[in-house]
Amino acid sequence: MRQGVAFYLARNLFCRSFSSLSPHPLHVCVVGSGPAGFYSAEKILKAHQNARVDIIDRLPTPFGLVRSGVAPDHPETKIVINQFSRVALNDRCSFFGNVTLGSAVSLYELRELYHVVVLAYGAESDRNLGIPGEDLAGVYSAREFVWWYNGHPDCSHLSPDLKSSDTVVVLGQGNVALDVARVLLQQTTELAKTDIASHALAALEESSVRKVYLVGRRGPAQAACTAKELRELLDAIYFLRSAKRGSILEYPNDSQAKSNTGIKDLNVHIKEADLHTTPVDEEVLKNNRIQRRVYELLSKAALSGSSCPSSSQRELHFVFFRKPDHFIPSDDNNGHVAGVHFEKTVLQEVGDSGKQIAVGTGQFEDLRCGMVLKSIGYKSVPVDGLPFDGHKGIVPNIQGRVINNVSDGATQIEKGLYVVGWLKRGPTGIIATNLYCAEETVSSISEDLDQGVFASGIGSQKAGREGLLQLLDGRNCKYVPFSGWERIDCEEKRLGSLRNKPREKLTTWKDLLKVAAE
Ligand code: NAP
Repeated sequence: MRQGVAFYLARNLFCRSFSSLSPHPLHVCVVGSGPAGFYSAEKILKAHQNARVDIIDRLPTPFGLVRSGVAPDHPETKIVINQFSRVALNDRCSFFGNVTLGSAVSLYELRELYHVVVLAYGAESDRNLGIPGEDLAGVYSAREFVWWYNGHPDCSHLSPDLKSSDTVVVLGQGNVALDVARVLLQQTTELAKTDIASHALAALEESSVRKVYLVGRRGPAQAACTAKELRELLDAIYFLRSAKRGSILEYPNDSQAKSNTGIKDLNVHIKEADLHTTPVDEEVLKNNRIQRRVYELLSKAALSGSSCPSSSQRELHFVFFRKPDHFIPSDDNNGHVAGVHFEKTVLQEVGDSGKQIAVGTGQFEDLRCGMVLKSIGYKSVPVDGLPFDGHKGIVPNIQGRVINNVSDGATQIEKGLYVVGWLKRGPTGIIATNLYCAEETVSSISEDLDQGVFASGIGSQKAGREGLLQLLDGRNCKYVPFSGWERIDCEEKRLGSLRNKPREKLTTWKDLLKVAAE
């Protein structure tokens, strides 16, 4: 018995070598400086007073999706950058930009250098449709288009042709699809006041795009967007039409509807026939408040009909029950897309789960356009040495602990390796979702520390930041510290002030690295 107690005390003492009383720092590396990475770093620093957290990112700039994904006309969403900056400026935290996991440093090396490695590098690739014509010019993923207008240095040369046609087809009906539709249809005078990249603003100012088709393979009861984002697009129509009728359109319990935030002079088209619901749909709508709100908004937009068209009018078409079959090449064989060949669909319930999938009917129709944006979801990519579930597109994990399939379904926990954000749960959720996600992963880390999971490595100190710096120096990797980002930030704000914008983003690797090093 006494032996047991002695063992317990010894183990606790041992484990506590990582506690706040310990002289030994807990070395943590967070890979990826988006919301999931920063929320994790913040929570680790708070929970473990002896933790030293290094955040690495392949870009010279921090903040991931907040900088490259959030639409420029959503500045309020970007305010979280202030909170993340405070984390980066914590004495126990460091940022190393321009450091790519997999080339500048391997996962194996990071695990050797740090007690805890938290992977938060998100989803930087795209799901593919795998249908003919996907590689035609003019077919882009929404991610590329978003990165282009947000000044991501990997997409600043995208140069989408917005002048040759008045029609764009967007595949998918999630919030990213709404973002790209809004940017394409928005008045450029409004966009000019945002931090949109100057190359994108110039192209949009000259754009001849007047019609955007948002095409979903399922129906309005399954649309993937959320009500707040949808309302932004639709508000203007309600106001336009209710003002014309001299009445205020009823928006039950909807205070936001009182402000007109939508796109002016936008005509929204939805076929009333598509609003027909089946008993399964009814059940879904009854039980899911978010879907119900979206469905109600779409119904109202459909029933409002078209207002008097004007020459400046832009059109947004919600098209349901169509799945892309192939992309249509242009007649002159110049390798450019000229439209999408769709198959009409019906929904089929999977078992009695309530989930309905789209199945083809054998009936087809074409939609001509000059550009297609595939907004069907982002995709994470693995790095060497990382267990990865290719089917789900995530790192297999239990509450953020990375697990490995060893054999016959048996799993093993990868000691000291954790995952958070889109890499952990797939590419869904808003920025705040990452807060809860980070909470879960950091709780797992804390539990593992308490349980002595790292005990075998304790005697062996880890090199942490110093080891990383040595390794990067040895490879002549010019990392960008947070002070380098602050120089970029300062310069972008200075350039922005000359154009009455919050910032003018530097959009090339060369400019970013040059200013960071000045
Ligand atoms: P998403 O919400 O998952 O939407 C993906 C869309 O693509 C769905 O309409 C889906 O249809 C469709 N799709 C998927 N595979 C398809 C296929 N093979 N053929 C045709 N259509 C296909 O993804 P997202 O729009 O990229 O957004 C990612 C996450 O970021 C979401 O959680 C979103 O809410 C969030 N986000 C939030 C904001 C905001 O809060 N303002 C802004 C942007 C993004 P099915 O439903 O039929 O699968």
